[in-house]
Amino acid sequence: MNLSKDEIVELLSNDNQEILFKKADEIRQQYVGDEVHLRGLMEFSNICRNNCMYCGIRRDNNELKRYRMSKEEIIETAKNAANIGFKTIVMQSGEDLHFSNDVMCEILSEIKKFDVAITLSVGERTYEDYKLWKEAGADRYLIRIETTDKDLYHRLDPGMSWQNRYNCSMWLKELGYELGSGIMVGLPGQSIESIADDLLFLRDIEVDMAGIGPFIPAPNTPLANEKGGTLNLALRTMAVMRLLMPDINIPATTAMESLHPNGRIMALQAGANVVMPNITANEYKQLYTLYPNKTNVDKAQSNTDIVAKITSIGRTIGKGYGEHKKKI
Ligand code: SAM
Repeated sequence: MNLSKDEIVELLSNDNQEILFKKADEIRQQYVGDEVHLRGLMEFSNICRNNCMYCGIRRDNNELKRYRMSKEEIIETAKNAANIGFKTIVMQSGEDLHFSNDVMCEILSEIKKFDVAITLSVGERTYEDYKLWKEAGADRYLIRIETTDKDLYHRLDPGMSWQNRYNCSMWLKELGYELGSGIMVGLPGQSIESIADDLLFLRDIEVDMAGIGPFIPAPNTPLANEKGGTLNLALRTMAVMRLLMPDINIPATTAMESLHPNGRIMALQAGANVVMPNITANEYKQLYTLYPNKTNVDKAQSNTDIVAKITSIGRTIGKGYGEHKKKI
């Protein structure tokens, strides 16, 4: 659907959101159907070289116990997830440069043997790294642009460059990865107009997946006392994304569930078609503390609970890899 920036601002600002959610739900049904694709999310290291002001695993958070799973643990976790039916494994971490490309490629080719699609989400690296990982079996890459307001980005991600994050996104596309991008909603100093720009940007770069979540202030970060984003604004942003890009994959994000016990189901009924249950062992996932209440979400819900919730709203669990099928 073609929407102008003004129209998007109007939709994002309108508290009377039920019509928007209904429309997004219809378009979702029409273009990507009733299947919900599950992605097994493995958080394999909380060690990070970056210092993003909003993030609970930022470099300067000295209160956090750091961990890194071993190669064997990573492969074993993926194997167990594949055995219980996951068709996509997402490997996410802080920007931890520990694993050499040889080891990364070995991990990828081992996991590939389990007949799954692999999504990587390990941040900004070189073109060469991305190329080697693609050749070793990675299919998709998740790297949110976070915001298209460059000043805001540089204030919130000190020492990082928006242009570099953009370049990484373009390299990934060029190398044939499915690109997952996305934003946080409700960042301090972020306007509704800026969110509208973000949505148009995600459409223009033709993402395959768009993850949209509320910013949630995290303890032991410089933004701990800021106001966070609301679930409603995050849901509206996600619903407009569906109107703009009817056939892409849109996850019901964990951050939404952290703000409301039914946040992901609400998202699935307002345009989302993907859920990413956490498959990380308890001892580690409780240390992957991007924002508060995340670990409660991860802890409270077994995969069976999530599946039951999804089927209770008349949706089915995707049986394939759930790749982006272009329809327009
Ligand atoms: N290091 C990789 C990267 O930079 O893309 C992946 C890990 S990073 C922690 C994953 C995502 O968490 C970020 O893209 C950001 O949008 C989200 N995130 C971090 N802190 C958050 C917070 N306080 N509230 C909501 N989302 C947050």
